[in-house]
Amino acid sequence: MKYTSLSITIPIIMVLVYLGFINIAVESEVKVVENLGVTDVEQAQQTTPFLILKSVSETEKVFYDTQHTVVEEYGQLSVSGRYMVDKEGSPVQLRGMSLFWSQWMGKFYTQETVRWLKTNWNVTIVRASMAVEDVDGYLNNKAREKAKIFEVIDAAIEEGIYVLVDWHSHHAEDYIAEAKDFFSEVAEKYGDTPNIIYETYNEPLDVSWSAVLKPYHEEIIAEIRKYDPDNIVVCGTRNWSQRVDEVVNNELSDKNVMYTLHYYATSHKENVRRLTETALANNIPIFVTEYGVTDYSGDGEIDVASANTWWNFLDENKISWCNWSIADKAESSAALKPGASGKGKWSENEITESGLMVRAEMKAKNSY
Ligand code: MG
Repeated sequence: MKYTSLSITIPIIMVLVYLGFINIAVESEVKVVENLGVTDVEQAQQTTPFLILKSVSETEKVFYDTQHTVVEEYGQLSVSGRYMVDKEGSPVQLRGMSLFWSQWMGKFYTQETVRWLKTNWNVTIVRASMAVEDVDGYLNNKAREKAKIFEVIDAAIEEGIYVLVDWHSHHAEDYIAEAKDFFSEVAEKYGDTPNIIYETYNEPLDVSWSAVLKPYHEEIIAEIRKYDPDNIVVCGTRNWSQRVDEVVNNELSDKNVMYTLHYYATSHKENVRRLTETALANNIPIFVTEYGVTDYSGDGEIDVASANTWWNFLDENKISWCNWSIADKAESSAALKPGASGKGKWSENEITESGLMVRAEMKAKNSY
């Protein structure tokens, strides 16, 4: 009985497939092959035979050349003048997402989230934000918080993207021993991979660049350089990492150092760009390790026009950035709506207005 029905069904299916009534070719459903800039998959596969389907949403299928990652292309990064440059010495710009404070949004510190950000959001960098002195942070939970950061670093290496290892503190000069301890461990463990970029101090408050911040960074850099002679270190500046101008004529001596600029598009506009231009005019290399399209609280209105003005400014100057933040907190800078999974695969209706804007920017401009 079963044999009889199968013997009839299989030939019928084969005929239907042959006649095109059942389409088993995945390629024919493709609408966009975004990161390769082509719309014809058959044509693309002739030149790129290892093209595979990596990501699916309701309206599109995205194919990736999996043998080619941004880290393979750019390799070991370094600093030349005011630019971050690739292994060939050409200026490069990274665009990606910052994770939220590790102790409060630990659920997103997963391999699955990092993979989804790479394959579906086209990030070329992620930022792991190690909470330090704040409630329940590293100072009270060293092993637990470190494990989260290491999981994200390992995932970034696996996916072939860069990772900013951020000491997410507002008072790091008060915990120098702990910072040295942490960064020396990271440098010893990962300093021989090109993926790692160190960020020694997220946002200093109103403390002197020359008297407090510069000596702090020098001490941490010396610790990192015991194990890693070359990977880039990004250093926080006064006033929530806005006064990059104060570095002029007072730079750190290490040659692979950049300086942190943070902005929130609704609050910070031409005034903060002026400070940045002063620094750039003096060959100070800048990295926007964190910014939002909202106001400085991380909440409030989104200013689309200001966000676009900033993006254009950063593109013109090849300044890399990470957007704040991958979180499902009920605030406007959070990229995800409350309840979003810590394992990626978010549908578009789980992504906030901010998240959709930033994702579109990366999908339009990142090539990997
Ligand atoms: Mg190295």
